[in-house]
Amino acid sequence: MQFSLPKNTNISIHPIKSFTDNYIWMIKKNRDVVIVDPGDSSPVLSLLKKEGFNLKGILITHKHADHIGGIEDLIKFYPDVKIYGPKNEFNFTYDLVSNNDLITINELGISFRVIETPGHTLDHIVFADKNHLFCGDTLFGCGCGKLFEGTFSQMHTSLKLLSKLPGSIKIFCAHEYTKKNIEFALTEEKNNKDLISRKKRLTGVDITLPSTLYDELKTNPFLRSKNLTQFKERRIRKDNF
Ligand SMILES: [Zn+2]
Repeated sequence: MQFSLPKNTNISIHPIKSFTDNYIWMIKKNRDVVIVDPGDSSPVLSLLKKEGFNLKGILITHKHADHIGGIEDLIKFYPDVKIYGPKNEFNFTYDLVSNNDLITINELGISFRVIETPGHTLDHIVFADKNHLFCGDTLFGCGCGKLFEGTFSQMHTSLKLLSKLPGSIKIFCAHEYTKKNIEFALTEEKNNKDLISRKKRLTGVDITLPSTLYDELKTNPFLRSKNLTQFKERRIRKDNF
């Protein structure tokens, strides 16, 4: 399936670090913001307060606590915030979205395409426009999410789907795992020049994201798996790495 992606202008994306290695991504236009996967409310609230930003929307990629844990608290301060997420039993009100839906946050005049990517969890979705992919725990810098619920085949299919997005799309993952993932990737492809240069380029770099799909296609062993069998073998080796 090919997805037609909306183009959003005049937005900027900022990481909010939370827990040990999570990124809560903030999409900002003027003083209005949309927050992706707020697992923790406190770093979000303090930033919004400090900068005087208005929270207008929340995007949820999947059900794990480190992605939704802050939502109940954020609603207390921003009761009108629009929340979009996958089918699940959440204890807050939200707009249920599914594959190929186009969501629009009117206050910012921005839209995202929803793509279902089961594998890490069965409910997992990602949000994309022409230049930005908020991929939660499906795709990581040089890696992919662990399979908590889905099958190898589901995750492999989900990653193949994301591989077909524009190469220049920027990848905003929910965790800072890139450097560890590169170490694993080098055990799979020790002569991959792009991988070696990616490692060098990131030496001393604190925030390695966003990457680009183009970069991932050249270095990510899971996107580069030749077939399902190789994907499965790599995923198992990574779990034991
Ligand atoms: Zn997760």
